Amino acid sequence: MAYSKQFLGLSFSLVSVILSGCGGGSNSCPSESFKLGDIEVDSCFDTRSAQTLKKDWEFFNDLNIEGAGGDEKRDFIVADIKNLLEIDGPLTHTNIEDWLFSRVNHIVPPNYNFKKVKSSDKSFRYENPTAIPHEDIMIKVEDIQDNQKEFREMGVLMMNIGGLVYLSGKKEGVLYEMELNSGKNVEIKSPRAGVIIPGSQFKDFTKAEAKQGDNKAIKILRLATLWHEARHSDGNGASLGLLHDKCPNDHPAKGEYICENKRNGPYHIGAKMMRLMGNICSDCTTAENELLDELYLDSLGRITFTDEDEKQLRETLATSEAFLEKGTKNDVPLTAEEIDDLTKKINESKEKLKELYPDPKPEGVN
Ligand SMILES: [Zn+2]
Repeated sequence: MAYSKQFLGLSFSLVSVILSGCGGGSNSCPSESFKLGDIEVDSCFDTRSAQTLKKDWEFFNDLNIEGAGGDEKRDFIVADIKNLLEIDGPLTHTNIEDWLFSRVNHIVPPNYNFKKVKSSDKSFRYENPTAIPHEDIMIKVEDIQDNQKEFREMGVLMMNIGGLVYLSGKKEGVLYEMELNSGKNVEIKSPRAGVIIPGSQFKDFTKAEAKQGDNKAIKILRLATLWHEARHSDGNGASLGLLHDKCPNDHPAKGEYICENKRNGPYHIGAKMMRLMGNICSDCTTAENELLDELYLDSLGRITFTDEDEKQLRETLATSEAFLEKGTKNDVPLTAEEIDDLTKKINESKEKLKELYPDPKPEGVN
């Protein structure tokens, strides 16, 4: 999700490319719209990018998601994904796709003309109208329209533009509509509008693969990024968009909004999806597996509260609760001060856990 350059994640290579392709006129529109499962890929994609999306999706369809477990490590990843995506029962192609399809509806071409985002005449009331996360650094639709070239060159792989327009609209108190190249009009009435746009990094990779051959690690990164972006379609009020957080002072990207302090955010989902697909990629080469490890570590490097931190926090909570229980039953007599300390520790741990798991329920959805 992006409202300033800093928000845009997965930027391990920041080479800018001036985008080429159709100018939006129907005569120069090189591709028709098509579908990836339930996701509608808008028309006017350049042929190469359209091909990349299609091939990535074929690759995903061939993955044996149902056989993703098998040993302790793999079972752990499967459990993590199920937990993050709130999937009951076994992990299957269908439920993992359905999660994506309810959050991503359209992919527009990298050169989508932002002038096609228009304010609607319809009156619309935003849920929690004053609760806007990271309000101070958010950019407006108008800013994007005035700086289309710069916006496209930001060096990101993909962006949840529907979520960004929703946030901007909410801040401005305006309902926006996005006219797609196919002629369809999408009203941006919730973060679940689900419109994704590939960034310049997408084109860089596609171009590199055209020269060097397909790279399965990059395919997995692009696919995982769809699930990352899908997470930005969630949230309400303060949790709207499950936005990236500011990196702490001891982080190399100190002060930039490319970190994640939460435990259920887009970086977690993207990273775990990458790991899942990497584990079941039967014909990934050593070089591809090494690149996947690097990409996975890059994502983990943005997560400031680690698996280990959470384990410790939960242990502290459980131990404190057990002590307090023994104390209240008088098995181990406690002083009033000790009871106070334990109660404080329990409340703080519970509060922290709540903070780490912001509510993903999307606003504006009935
Ligand atoms: Zn993101």
